[in-house]
Amino acid sequence: VTDGATVLPARQHTIRTQNLGLVLRQIAATPGRSRAQLAQTTGLTRTTISALVDDLIDRGLVAELTPGRGARGRPASPLVLNRSGPAGLGIEINVDYLAAGVVDLTGAIRAHRTVVSDNRALSPRLGLQRATRLATALIAEVGLPIAGVTVALPGLVDADGTLRRAPNLPGWQGVRCAAQLQESLGLPLTVDNEANLAALAQLWHDDGLTDFVLVSGEIGVGAGLVMDGRLFRGVRGMAGEFGHVLIHPDGPPCGCGANGCLEQFAGQEALLRRTGLLDVATLVSRAAAGDGRTQGALTEAGRALGVALADLINTLDIPTVVLGGLYARLGEWLVPAIRAELDRRVISADWAAPTVLISALGADAAVRGAAGVAVAKILDDAVGVGQ
Ligand SMILES: [Zn+2]
Repeated sequence: VTDGATVLPARQHTIRTQNLGLVLRQIAATPGRSRAQLAQTTGLTRTTISALVDDLIDRGLVAELTPGRGARGRPASPLVLNRSGPAGLGIEINVDYLAAGVVDLTGAIRAHRTVVSDNRALSPRLGLQRATRLATALIAEVGLPIAGVTVALPGLVDADGTLRRAPNLPGWQGVRCAAQLQESLGLPLTVDNEANLAALAQLWHDDGLTDFVLVSGEIGVGAGLVMDGRLFRGVRGMAGEFGHVLIHPDGPPCGCGANGCLEQFAGQEALLRRTGLLDVATLVSRAAAGDGRTQGALTEAGRALGVALADLINTLDIPTVVLGGLYARLGEWLVPAIRAELDRRVISADWAAPTVLISALGADAAVRGAAGVAVAKILDDAVGVGQ
């Protein structure tokens, strides 16, 4: 008797949780449906749907808009995810800047800010303090309740949120970024690699783009692999360290301890070194003005990228390359050299040439991805999926 008494409510709880998740997903996938339409598509009764919808409204996740004039019959109130409900915060700590962004439940970015910050010159304690200040200011500005945070980091991140290896931020190695930021912000928080989060933002942004590698150029070069609509993290979450694939075994030394890595041929600092320029803005304007030395350096970088990408495509059969971060801004000059190497080296190129695209997301892709992950977790946790 005792067993029956405990098992039954637990089962009912599970079914209710599943139904809440089902209704929430339907509203997220097709905003604007009414309670009656939801009853039709889910096969649940009107009464059950109404109770579930009321629950979602009470939790601040769903809003019911004022009814429009229907073609016939009673006007129905459209249900949408609540723009004023709990929102996700994304923070990016990169080598030479900090960024933060807030995304609401509908996936819209509501506030975003980037500040220059040479984090190599800062102690991790000071860097994390700056990131906290930036995030706190943004939260105050946006005026939405923040329910979760995801932090993008330029390196390999452990399951417990420790930055294990960051060749371009050597002083930050072993820093427990998740624990420290969670304490200073007082919000639930996860961390991930910045290229992984940028790839997720790309996946959510471009309908129909389900199999691609996003190559993100900053001071470091990272890649996020998406296959069959899912981020490929590798067995221990360490996949995508594309900046450290080999271009030349006798090439220049790299921050990772090896030498001849892609980053030393196509990273932001290699490009500036080769052109003798001091900043990216000048690099872009010189290239646009047709400066021969700048365009030559970009062609060399494009060749190195093409060689490395051809290896990746021959190994994994990925049909699409998306250029992100700095590479999106330099796409015009990089793409011809990348294409030429892919045509020459990808075995299947004759009948299935890989596509090279330029990301429309700009420099804030990682922050958007981070905030988007936080939002997805809010929705999952709210209906008990994430627990
Ligand atoms: Zn390296």
